[in-house]
Amino acid sequence: MNVLLLGSGGREHALAWCINKSEKLDKLYIAPGNPGTAEVGTNVDLSLSDFEEILDFIEDQEIDLTVVGPEKPLVDGIVDFLEQKGHKVFGPSKKAAQLEGSKKFAKEFMKKNRIPTADYETFTQDEYDEAFEYIKNRDEYPVVLKADGLAGGKGVFICETEEDVEQRLNQLKEDSKLSDAAETLVVEEFMKGEEASVFVLSDGQTAKVIHNAQDHKRIGEGDTGLNTGGMGAYCPAPVVTNEIRHRIEKEIVLPTISAMLLDDMPYKGILYCGLMITDKGPKVVEFNCRFGDPECQAVVPSLKTDLLELMEAAAKGELAGHEIELDNLYRCCVVIASEGYPKSYEAGKVIEGLNRISVDANVFHAGTVSKDGEILTDGGRVLSIVGAGETLQDAIKNTYAEVRKVTFENAYYRSDIGVKGLAHLDE
Ligand code: ATP
Repeated sequence: MNVLLLGSGGREHALAWCINKSEKLDKLYIAPGNPGTAEVGTNVDLSLSDFEEILDFIEDQEIDLTVVGPEKPLVDGIVDFLEQKGHKVFGPSKKAAQLEGSKKFAKEFMKKNRIPTADYETFTQDEYDEAFEYIKNRDEYPVVLKADGLAGGKGVFICETEEDVEQRLNQLKEDSKLSDAAETLVVEEFMKGEEASVFVLSDGQTAKVIHNAQDHKRIGEGDTGLNTGGMGAYCPAPVVTNEIRHRIEKEIVLPTISAMLLDDMPYKGILYCGLMITDKGPKVVEFNCRFGDPECQAVVPSLKTDLLELMEAAAKGELAGHEIELDNLYRCCVVIASEGYPKSYEAGKVIEGLNRISVDANVFHAGTVSKDGEILTDGGRVLSIVGAGETLQDAIKNTYAEVRKVTFENAYYRSDIGVKGLAHLDE
């Protein structure tokens, strides 16, 4: 099979690495890719917003399956576009991708189908004054404000006071990067608990849970400081006990996939369920229509089943009968970033030590560039190290032993990835 994978982050390097292990693979192309994906396939310079250019490439190179990494092309309808031209694609249609692309859509869908989530109200931008009044009368803090559309993780605010709400409402309206996404506002009840994520593979009718994981979104140790694209992850997450896992399947995953089918929007691809494990059980924080990053980097190396075979089966609507087997190890993924991220940082630093990483661990590139035979930093989140162990403690220890081998000027990483999980195992 010839495969085209769209994207350029750590998630895509992890997917490319895994797809490259498949016996079914002939040629793997990654667009645009990064220096890491170039080690396991051929990078091609295609723009993810130019669907015609992607189509031409698929037809010229006789691509059998296109795998879409990031959410933007999915929400913009790349799957519909390519399928209409007769090509197989792994990912949800534009309609189905609304589960991520519109928080209002996702909330209405969950309410209608009684899928547990936080209570909410929605307001248009013209109704922001009413939203403020509603929040003041409700008088329950914290309260969560969310821009309806895609905002790259920057459109969600947890407000502790009335003043905070006022300031964030103004920001949502006036910040040119946010105001389109915040055309509609979702005001949500704050849920207390611990977060976990579950990756589900679906062909539209049949859904299979791949694995669960826990992300670390904040920049600082102990979950402090600014939000980031994710500073690390580990899997499985002990907060997802067997009982919780069954509830997630029964109360969230299966009802979602069947309701999408009933509503004539069969969900095909990866459904990422971002969850809050509350004292009343699991509730949905968000749905994403693709693999989450960095969790994907920890999860994918755990797969014993051929990922490409699973993706092909999902794209063809033939997932029933396929089983997903994991290696039952814990995995920890530590992101090494440029000091200053998520604010400003310097790039162009030489990365050393990559050739000393153990064969039992993975290095996945995100913000790197290859120049004159060297790998240089080229982004906020530079690369990740993924290590494994029979226990979570071993996975953490093994991962950090490899992390310490990688050096570059102003490198920064959190030293506590996975520690939250250890607390559950001590209970
Ligand atoms: P991203 O795409 O970066 O994952 P997003 O912009 O889609 O994020 P959400 O995932 O909905 O936004 O929210 C971001 C974070 O805010 C969540 O991971 C969670 O920590 C927190 N959060 C969101 N909604 C709630 C809620 N109702 N109660 C408590 N915390 C919440």
